[in-house]
Amino acid sequence: MPTYIVLLGPPGAGKGTQAQAVSQTLGLPHISSGDIFRENLKKQTDLGKLAEGFMNRGELVPDDVTIAMIRERLSRSDAKNGALLDGFPRTPAQAEALSTMLSEFDGEVDVVPYIKVHEEVLIERLTGRWTCRAQGHVYHEKHNPPKVPGSCDIDGSELYQRDDDKAETVKRRIRVYLEQTEPLIEFYRQRGKLIEVDGTKPIEQVKENLLAVLPDTEQTNDLGA
Ligand code: ADP
Ligand code: AMP
Repeated sequence: MPTYIVLLGPPGAGKGTQAQAVSQTLGLPHISSGDIFRENLKKQTDLGKLAEGFMNRGELVPDDVTIAMIRERLSRSDAKNGALLDGFPRTPAQAEALSTMLSEFDGEVDVVPYIKVHEEVLIERLTGRWTCRAQGHVYHEKHNPPKVPGSCDIDGSELYQRDDDKAETVKRRIRVYLEQTEPLIEFYRQRGKLIEVDGTKPIEQVKENLLAVLPDTEQTNDLGA
């Protein structure tokens, strides 16, 4: 049976940071809806052009588009043993659609770590975030600085500040999260899937706590295959 893990939490909680760290350990691909949209934006595909305005305003891309995009991504061969989802689902309709599509792949959402961080911390985290151009690796100017300023430790590419990490857009994104995504906490809690993880601890400690609650999948999955 494939293993599907959904990382839940507000923008800036540390989902991408943790997903990068644990994806390799678990042998599951890290699927970030935001990264896929940004990749499409960079390549100026139809999907990227459609998503651009919503992203710049800090709003959600419409459900039908987002669900179709994730369905296509999950059907690729590297996700045959499951996936670590980051940024999807973000609305109750997306969560329902995910359940339906995973049942088609003979799977289900196995566990939903909810990375919990107070709202006040999020603005400081997002406005200090630096992202790598090539693959979206994330840094923070204070909490997780790169070894060489402006350059990604992993692939050497340039670091940039996302347009939607400006203070005004960040505030809008947090509002959108509270209105549209926060209900998913109860959705998954009621289904017995939710596990709270304190996201205010240092990155390494969050990783340890997260790994402790995740299923051990590395025996069965091989990302390199
Ligand atoms: P998300 O994917 O949930 O939006 P990120 O993983 O991109 O969040 O993290 C947002 C910012 O906060 C980044 O600059 C990252 O380096 C920083 N960060 C992530 N986890 C922590 C942590 N536990 N403590 C301090 N800063 C963190
Ligand atoms: P993120 O990288 O997760 O912070 O997402 C950046 C932006 O991409 C969001 O503000 C949305 O505009 C868009 N986005 C990412 N994931 C979704 C999703 N699941 N549903 C709708 N829009 C999304």
